[in-house]
Amino acid sequence: MKPSRCSFCKGKLDEGKTEFVAKVGDEVISIKDVPAYVCENCGEAYFTPEISRKIDEVMKDFHGHKLLAHPIAAGEVEIKV
Ligand SMILES: [Zn+2]
Repeated sequence: MKPSRCSFCKGKLDEGKTEFVAKVGDEVISIKDVPAYVCENCGEAYFTPEISRKIDEVMKDFHGHKLLAHPIAAGEVEIKV
C-alpha cells in the first residue's frame, strides 16, 4: 500500500528515507534511515504498515532495555528491509 498524496498539503510523495524520533518518558529514541514516503513539498513522512510494524518492534526492544535497568539516552538502531 502506497500513499499517493500528502494529506496535509496534497504534495507529491517520493520514496526516500527519514529519521523516526519518539519520546519515551524523559528519553528519546531515534531510528535512522527508516524507509518512508516523504512529501517533497512539506517533508511530512508516511510509513507503510510493514515499516510501522518494524518501528513497533524496535520500540518494544527499547522498553525491554529500560526494564533491564540499562538506560539509553538516545537509542539508535537501524531498520533493515
Ligand atoms: Zn506535504
